[in-house]
Amino acid sequence: MGIRFQLEDHARKLPRVLPSRSCTSRFQRRHRRLAREAFKVDPESDLITSFYLRSLDGQALRLWEPGQFLPIRVTIPGQKEPAVRTYTISTSPNPDRYRLSIRLGDGIALVSQFLHAQAKPGFRLEAAAPRGRFVLNRSNSRTPVLISGGVGIAPMIAMLEHIVDEGQRTGLFRPAYFIHGTRNRRTQAFSKHIRNLASIHPGLKVHICYSQPEGLDNGCDSEGRVSIETLKQMLSLRRL
Ligand SMILES: Cc1cc2nc3c(=O)[nH]c(=O)nc-3n(C[C@H](O)[C@H](O)[C@H](O)COP(=O)(O)OP(=O)(O)OC[C@H]3O[C@@H](n4cnc5c(N)ncnc54)[C@H](O)[C@@H]3O)c2cc1C
Repeated sequence: MGIRFQLEDHARKLPRVLPSRSCTSRFQRRHRRLAREAFKVDPESDLITSFYLRSLDGQALRLWEPGQFLPIRVTIPGQKEPAVRTYTISTSPNPDRYRLSIRLGDGIALVSQFLHAQAKPGFRLEAAAPRGRFVLNRSNSRTPVLISGGVGIAPMIAMLEHIVDEGQRTGLFRPAYFIHGTRNRRTQAFSKHIRNLASIHPGLKVHICYSQPEGLDNGCDSEGRVSIETLKQMLSLRRL
């Protein structure tokens, strides 16, 4: 017995929803790509490099939520079409600069390898508006626990910077936990920056795990991966 799918019939029944004019212009604004220029390139670790971008015309950047990402389009010589990728904005919202912290990909990783090799100050690319729903809930007063591994640190650093900025601005430091796992000191990004933020924020608790510590590694708080035990110990929880 055969099964017939009547996709066309269903498609015909769907109402045609046309975007209103204001929806269309919102859509166009959101997807419009603007030229951006790298003005600073900072290696954060053996694998991760931060690229600082600004607008070419000096216009203020549209503000974003801590944790959001930026869709970018890069023209790579020898490629038929520009390559599109998304990278988290790894700094707290500000009108002047985006920071993208990009891990050098393994094997043939087109965009990350191209950017690591070629994107020096003055390098240009296109970026659409920041977006994404994985953001710090600013209105929630509960204590954030920011947990990450490897380059997953990017949104957590943006959120952490925001928490510290907010504390400095208001004098009210929202307690927070920052728990991060990486292989060792050579692969750890933002090591000094995290310690510096912790020295400003009296209620920030930081825990760094190294899964493959090397000889002189003493930058970590525990060896191994981030585990339930790490969380129990950090958060003083009896049961998770
Ligand atoms: C919301 C979001 C946020 C992100 N934020 C960040 C961030 O902050 N930092 C960051 O570093 N990354 C981030 N990423 C990942 C990033 O978008 C890219 O996916 C990543 O940089 C890899 O892109 P690439 O062009 O370098 O590698 P690609 O060319 O896309 O390749 C990816 C991997 O696939 C392998 N591969 C490619 N072609 C083949 C093939 N034919 N056969 C077998 N294997 C193949 C490559 O070796 C490589 O390891 C984010 C992704 C998302 C969705």
